[in-house]
Amino acid sequence: MTYQQEAELESRYVMPTFGRKPVEFVEGSGMTLVDSEGREYLDFLSGIGVVSLGHCHPALVAAVSEQAAKLMHVSNYYYIEKRGEVARMLSDLLNAEVEPAERSAWKTFFANSGAEANECAIKLARLYARKRAVAAGKQDEAAPRLIVTIERSFHGRTLATLAATAQPAKQEAFQPLPQGFVATPLNDVAALEQLFAERGDEICAVMLECIQGESGVHPCTADFMAAARRLTAERGALLICDEVQCGIFRIGKPYGFQALGVTPDVVTMAKGIASGIPMGACAARGDAADTFGPGDHGSTFGGSNIAIAAAHATLTELSREGFGAHVAEVGAYLRERLSALPQVVEVRGDGLMVGADLAEGGPSAGDVVLAGLEAGLVLNAPGPRTLRFLPPLICEKAHVDALVERLGKLL
Ligand code: PLP
Repeated sequence: MTYQQEAELESRYVMPTFGRKPVEFVEGSGMTLVDSEGREYLDFLSGIGVVSLGHCHPALVAAVSEQAAKLMHVSNYYYIEKRGEVARMLSDLLNAEVEPAERSAWKTFFANSGAEANECAIKLARLYARKRAVAAGKQDEAAPRLIVTIERSFHGRTLATLAATAQPAKQEAFQPLPQGFVATPLNDVAALEQLFAERGDEICAVMLECIQGESGVHPCTADFMAAARRLTAERGALLICDEVQCGIFRIGKPYGFQALGVTPDVVTMAKGIASGIPMGACAARGDAADTFGPGDHGSTFGGSNIAIAAAHATLTELSREGFGAHVAEVGAYLRERLSALPQVVEVRGDGLMVGADLAEGGPSAGDVVLAGLEAGLVLNAPGPRTLRFLPPLICEKAHVDALVERLGKLL
């Protein structure tokens, strides 16, 4: 079938929830994608930060093929080969770079997407607060239920995660949304303190992205994170880091919080965890890890044999000595080279999660994305004047050079 025929079928039978670009990719290898007409592209988006090992990495292909031929799915009624091991790998990564006194076993719930991982964290925070209230001899109704989120955040498209996504324009059409969320400005410590002073008794959690991705790559400051940690700890509330986009070595370190000097209670992740096979995960430590009992939460597909095989192969490769340092080094190079481009007025981010703002009056980010396709580049624009770069983590400096050379011509 030709690209035209595929595009026509999709427009007739697939809901147009994304504004699709005029291309159909049919093959990939490492940093390279190939379209249905045989043209090659350098991929600086990796399926929105998902294909962390690069396209069709041999270790992932082997692990998934072997598992597919052996057993794909049995459900969560049963133990699953390597699932405990993958959860232990995540626990070790979550404890990496954390003070020895702060280290403890993290327990994970496996889901299928970032939104589901966050749904799990939201339910966990509410149930945890309720159990604490009951243990303290209070009525259920007295339990805190409010979750503090950050303006311009993105936590997913399900109803509860949309309620947590503090972007009124995205929420409006879907009212009424689940209640119990309040947003505060990013990196405004005074506003967060004020909120806790006024409504601290109601707050069961603060939920934030260490680096906001969808808003255009806006990092959280260490001061703000420290304030969130201090204020939640004072109230017995949970600090939840949504690491769906910035976690799993995207910034070089295993998780974004590890660059900010605090340890959260709950961490959600997805995107890069299984390099393209759908998986989300919500991990918790301390008392919070034992919040759920049988029946409190669940998923038919979450943590299936095939997803676990993909996550095991991905985490094994990413945990290899020197991999994090490679991401940090190439990421710093990418930011340095982008900063020197014409029309680029600001570059933000860490590791291989980078945003670049374009000057007013020049080409729009959307135009650059389309022109990029013509020039053999897969780019992304989360906002009208912002480009975002989320390449596979195997990206090398030579790929950055090729990107900058082509992008320089476009700008
Ligand atoms: N949280 C963050 C920080 C994200 O960036 C995203 C997706 O972009 C999500 C949650 C939702 O993930 P998913 O699309 O897998 O549901």
